[in-house]
Amino acid sequence: MNHFSYEQDELYCEGIPLRKLAEAVGTPCYVYSCATLRQHFNVFDHAFADVPHMICFSVKSNSNIAILNLLGSFGGGVDIVSGGELFRALKAGIPGDRIVYSGVGKTLDEIDYALSEDILMFNIESTQELEVIAARAKFLGRTARIALRVNPDVDPKTHPYISTGMKENKFGIDIESAINAYEQARGLGHIQILGVDCHIGSQLTEIAPFVDTLQRLRVLIEHLEKMQITIRFLDLGGGLGIVYDQEEPPHPREYAQAILQKLNGLSCTLIFEPGRVIVGNAGVLLTKVLYTKRTAIKNFIITDAGMNDLIRPSFYGSYHQIQPVERTNRETQVVDVVGPICESGDFLARDRELPLVKAGEYLTVMSAGAYGFSMGSNYNSRPRPPEVLVRGDQYFIIRQRETWDDLIRGESVPDLLNPGLSLS
Ligand SMILES: *Cc1c(COP(=O)(O)O)cnc(C)c1O
Repeated sequence: MNHFSYEQDELYCEGIPLRKLAEAVGTPCYVYSCATLRQHFNVFDHAFADVPHMICFSVKSNSNIAILNLLGSFGGGVDIVSGGELFRALKAGIPGDRIVYSGVGKTLDEIDYALSEDILMFNIESTQELEVIAARAKFLGRTARIALRVNPDVDPKTHPYISTGMKENKFGIDIESAINAYEQARGLGHIQILGVDCHIGSQLTEIAPFVDTLQRLRVLIEHLEKMQITIRFLDLGGGLGIVYDQEEPPHPREYAQAILQKLNGLSCTLIFEPGRVIVGNAGVLLTKVLYTKRTAIKNFIITDAGMNDLIRPSFYGSYHQIQPVERTNRETQVVDVVGPICESGDFLARDRELPLVKAGEYLTVMSAGAYGFSMGSNYNSRPRPPEVLVRGDQYFIIRQRETWDDLIRGESVPDLLNPGLSLS
């Protein structure tokens, strides 16, 4: 369910016609719906209403501070994977005690920053990291609250690039070694064991891998209890999939029911780290058709959005629905929708049946709210697009379009290399 729909053949986000928005803000441009974000957060939250739980939105899926602030106002916390994301979360007003910190490569500076902000817990991904965090906590005179991220060796049956809980993945501590790692953590000063954590992958469309993981973690938690190690938080990560095309992911309610059924009296507070399922279908990428072009074997639609704005099709071969902003009755043709970037891998859709479109008209790339802007880059020296948040018939620019000057911020030409060529 989302708030992008046609009214009299014009595509709207809530009360705002996207054509008007495109004309006012320019394209390419990301557009998010407040109502959809609220709905997705509430559905997930209510599904777990019967048990103590916390929803820590995955900042990497959409890092805009207005989005983080909005989700925080619904009662959410965040899952971060870098110092930069911690900075964003704090700027967005998320309190430290609602922040969990995952990631295999936390640096000393990042660890110190998180310790000084007294975050809820570190999700620790290796025993070396555990030792480093203990040492930094000692040095700073603090206690680090921790969970160990356990790799349960479960196949999430998703794209290999976003599968994270199998033996061959770099993430977490393998479940056979977890007991020893907890034993080691207990022996370290300045470490308080708070939880068990996992995250097995993204865009999961089946429930079984989540349930298998929970079963394995429950056995681990019971084992730890016998060792007098009390687990207060069970962090089940994110990963619930969404509909891009023909997928049939479980509804958050089905996901919740399956998990609640398998808790079997476990009394931990549950933490979830959803990203995509909250924000994926709450955002679109609005783009303009620059040119159409017919070659001997292909039809191309060339848009002003490219792989630097939305890399998922190029990177994962992902499918995103593409819809014209003005819906009219017209013939269709099979096309590649491509961007202006100098790479043949720069496409938004391939061999797609779309209505015949004209140069100058607007298209929307649907389901672009997660891993859209946040994975964007300046490749080909393209300023990153603005982000707009719609609420009812109002809209807010929550990130300005970058300027040419933004592109060279921090760059300089050393005198040494400048044999008299004057700089403007
Ligand atoms: C990416 C990530 C998530 C979010 O995954 P989604 O599929 O977007 O829900 C949660 N936790 C961790 C540790 C992650 O790396």
